[in-house]
Amino acid sequence: MNPALIRVLLVDDDREDYVLAEEVFAEIETSRFELEWAKTYDAALNLIGQRRHDIYFLDYQLHAGRTGLDLLREALALGCTAPCVMLTGNNDPALDTAALQAGAADYIYKGHLEARLLDRTIRYCLERSQILTTLRRRNHELASLNQLTGHLNLFTHSVELFAQVPQLVRKTLGYECVSLWLDQDNELVLRELAGPKERPPMTMLVALPRQVWKTGRTAASPPLGYKGSIKEVATLAVPLVGKTPHQRIYGVLAAHDVQRAFQESDQVVLEALAMQITNTLERIQLFEAVEQDKRQLAAVLRGVADPVLVFNAEGQLQMLNPAGESLFNARQGKTLLGRALPSGNGYDPLLHLLIKAQQSQLITQGEVQWSNDRTFAVQITPINAGGQVVVLNDVTYFKELERAKNEFIAIISHDLRSPLSSISGFADLLRSRSTSPEGSQEYLAFIKQSIQRMDEMINSLLELTQINLQGTLTLETCDLNLVLTEIVYALQPQALNKEQTLALLDPVGSAPRDSIWVQANLSQLRRVAQNLVGNAIKYTPEQGTITVQALVQAQQVEVQIKDNGPGIPPSAQPFIFDRFYRVKNKLTKQVTGSGLGLAIVKAIVEQHGGRVWVESAGQAGLGTCFKFSLPLTSPELVPTALGEHT
Ligand code: ADP
Repeated sequence: MNPALIRVLLVDDDREDYVLAEEVFAEIETSRFELEWAKTYDAALNLIGQRRHDIYFLDYQLHAGRTGLDLLREALALGCTAPCVMLTGNNDPALDTAALQAGAADYIYKGHLEARLLDRTIRYCLERSQILTTLRRRNHELASLNQLTGHLNLFTHSVELFAQVPQLVRKTLGYECVSLWLDQDNELVLRELAGPKERPPMTMLVALPRQVWKTGRTAASPPLGYKGSIKEVATLAVPLVGKTPHQRIYGVLAAHDVQRAFQESDQVVLEALAMQITNTLERIQLFEAVEQDKRQLAAVLRGVADPVLVFNAEGQLQMLNPAGESLFNARQGKTLLGRALPSGNGYDPLLHLLIKAQQSQLITQGEVQWSNDRTFAVQITPINAGGQVVVLNDVTYFKELERAKNEFIAIISHDLRSPLSSISGFADLLRSRSTSPEGSQEYLAFIKQSIQRMDEMINSLLELTQINLQGTLTLETCDLNLVLTEIVYALQPQALNKEQTLALLDPVGSAPRDSIWVQANLSQLRRVAQNLVGNAIKYTPEQGTITVQALVQAQQVEVQIKDNGPGIPPSAQPFIFDRFYRVKNKLTKQVTGSGLGLAIVKAIVEQHGGRVWVESAGQAGLGTCFKFSLPLTSPELVPTALGEHT
């Protein structure tokens, strides 16, 4: 078999030396040479730039003071990778060292030039150059792989990964075209193709990836190292095999090129890359699954009306839902994140419960009193990996209801029993003979009074039950202005007793003496005004001021009963119209009541198609303003029954 042809460029300005060298080259039998001669520095540089030669021989001494060493440096700067051997007329070791340091592959003393030495030098240099080229390529590939891995680590979404990987691989590894194919419902689909505008036809690209997807093994066409015919697309395709137990094939990564044949090293690099891509994909899928779980959990937590707090193993608050945030004040809720709840800020009962749950590692339940007078039923569930989930359920209302009921039973039994014992006592006295006729009259008056008190209480209860039964009470067209005037007049003595000012202010939106017509049950309408004005007198301290005023609007009338008493705390306001509810404070303890008055007001107003509400800052002196609204009517409207109303 013919040895491969070695193309040599000899740079020497001396023709004789060239002829001599030509003869020596001819003597070498083991190799075939094509020797070209460059006589000048510039001609040599031009030929080196063309990169047609496998090896260069550069004479040290060239014309015009320029040396072979200068030429060597310039050739290397131009990117010449073929070996350069220096030739010199004098055997100078310093020159030898300088040449090798500058990048020469070898150094030959012309006086020693003979066939065997030349043959050996050429073989050695070419071999070395080959190794260097391979090493350089490997280095480049390693650096590219590193660079790509760095890029891959940055991806957090599969969509971005798929969209960008082909372009990244193409740019970093210098392939003409890179395609990414993905398994979609057992079909191999081209996901992304990076390449020049003029791409090989799809029919040419798809064949090999399909084969790789089916077999799960890398394939190249034409085979590695073989350069096919010009314009034939060379393809190297590697599978993206997952690490999961079933070694799922996610898809195929393929490089396509018409210029070059793929080598074994391309396969190594592409397979390593495919592994990195699959790792990244599986990491992202895990990340996406966690993200999805997190989003679902966040949505659930957002929707939960109860406060939920999550603590880590160190007892630091890691997460809280909006209801949890409102548990703390907004600013504090945010600053508490990442920290443990500070003790001594009203959180101590919860902190104790958390410690108890942590020690037992069992689901722990309890009740805590929050700083804003609210009571929460707490459930603490330990998390396996450490930490706790705390769910708080606001039971203030139920607690209040329970308390109010107990209080009511106590009041009822007390209020019913005390008049009963008075009645029984006075009845005994009446029976005794020693009682004078005047005394008897007095005792009978006491008995009557006690019976009246009992009667009132029982009536209140019955009234409330009645209203709630939605009885069909007759409605008539009533003048609200008149009702308010009557009630304010009737309650004037009570207010005077406490030296209070009770005034009916001129209505807004109508003349003072004009009627304000509403469809109502007159006695119930009186009851509403009486309860609200009565409460204002009852709860406002002596010398206080109470005003009543109607605001006539287009469709409705709004009545305001305003006092400058103790006010009602905002936390109690949602419950104020509930049956038996009474605000728990010193004042209400001193004032007798059953917690039924406002419940009656609410039931009546709502049955009349109106609304009742309270406005109060909850501060003593700033008072309370109860407001109720009713629809307006015209005087000529025919009376109806309450059941038919609304
Ligand atoms: P009660 O029989 O206790 O007066 P109500 O249903 O009429 O029952 O009122 C419920 C509670 O609302 C009262 O116990 C009191 O604490 C509070 N309240 C009602 N009106 C006023 C007011 N004008 N000022 C302050 N507190 C009031």
